[in-house]
Amino acid sequence: MEFTEKHGPRIDSLQLDYLMQQQIKADVLRLDLIHPLISGNKWYKLKEYIKEAKTLQKKVVITFGGPYSNHILATAAACSIFKIPAIGLIRGEEPKTYSPTLMDAQHQNMRLMFLPRKDYQDKLIPDAVFDQYSKQEVYVINEGGYGQLGMKGAASILNECTGSFYTHILCAVGTGTTLAGLRYHAQQHQQIIGVSALKNNFSLTQEVERLLEPMKESFSILHDFHFGGYAKYNPGLLEFMNEWFRQTGIPSDFVYTAKLFYAFAHLCQNGYFSRGSNILLIHSGGLQGNRSLPQGTLIF
Ligand SMILES: *Cc1c(COP(=O)(O)O)cnc(C)c1O
Repeated sequence: MEFTEKHGPRIDSLQLDYLMQQQIKADVLRLDLIHPLISGNKWYKLKEYIKEAKTLQKKVVITFGGPYSNHILATAAACSIFKIPAIGLIRGEEPKTYSPTLMDAQHQNMRLMFLPRKDYQDKLIPDAVFDQYSKQEVYVINEGGYGQLGMKGAASILNECTGSFYTHILCAVGTGTTLAGLRYHAQQHQQIIGVSALKNNFSLTQEVERLLEPMKESFSILHDFHFGGYAKYNPGLLEFMNEWFRQTGIPSDFVYTAKLFYAFAHLCQNGYFSRGSNILLIHSGGLQGNRSLPQGTLIF
C-alpha cells in the first residue's frame, strides 16, 4: 500500500565540524519529506492499521489526539486517500477557533468530536458515534498508533535506506512504537537509541518491550532532553532549531525532532559515540506542529 504520488524520503549526510573531528558519520533519514500532510513516521505506523480496517470492511476509523496532533492529521489524510471515513476524538472542549491542524484534518473530511479531559483519558467513544455505526463497523486506532501493527509498519522505515549499514539508529520517542519498529527490524549489533519527548515517562521501556515480546533485544531511551515536558520548550531550544537549520539545512519540530537533534549534538560533543560510528537519525516529521509557535520564531 503506497501513495499514488509519493515524495520519496531522502538521506542527508551531516557535515558538522564536531563530527569530522571525531570521525563520526551521521545521516538523517528525511521522512518529513514523504507527504505534505502525512509526514514522517506517522504514515509508517498507520499503514498496517488502515490495511486491516479495509480488509475487515470497517465503515469508519476512529482515533485520538490533541489539537496539534501529527497523528490526527496523518490519520485524516491517510483515510481520505484510502477512502475510509474517519473520526478524530480530540482532547479538551471544542475551541472557538480551531488550530491549523484541526482545520486541515477537517479539510481531509475527518469528523471531529471533542472529549472533556476525563473522557479523553479514559478513551471514551461518545454515544453519538454508535447512533451512526454499529460496534462491529468501527475500527479504533490507539492514540499515537501504539500497538503491534504500528510497530510492524514502523519497522519498514529501515527499508527506505541501507539500514544495516549503521552502528547506531536514533529516533524521537512519544509512545515508543517507532522505536520498537526500528528495534524489530534492525540487526542485533545495531544500537537503537530513543530520545523521549516526555518528562519522566519511565514506563516507556516496558511499553516498548511489550510490543517487542517475545523478542528480548536491547534498546535505550534517554530521558534528559525533554526541555520541561511534552511540547514544552525554552528559548535555547528554539535557538538550537534555527542554528541547526543554518548548519544543516534541515528543519525540525519543537516537540520531537528538535529534541532528538539537540540530544545528538550534545552526545557527540560529550564523546558518547566512539570513533568510526556510523549514525542514522530518523527525521520523523511533525513540522506542521510548529504552527503553534508565535510567528517569526523560526527562520524556516
Ligand atoms: C508521533 C511522533 C513521534 C513519536 O513516535 P512514537 O512512535 O509515538 O514514539 C516522533 N516524532 C514525530 C515528529 C512525531 O510526530
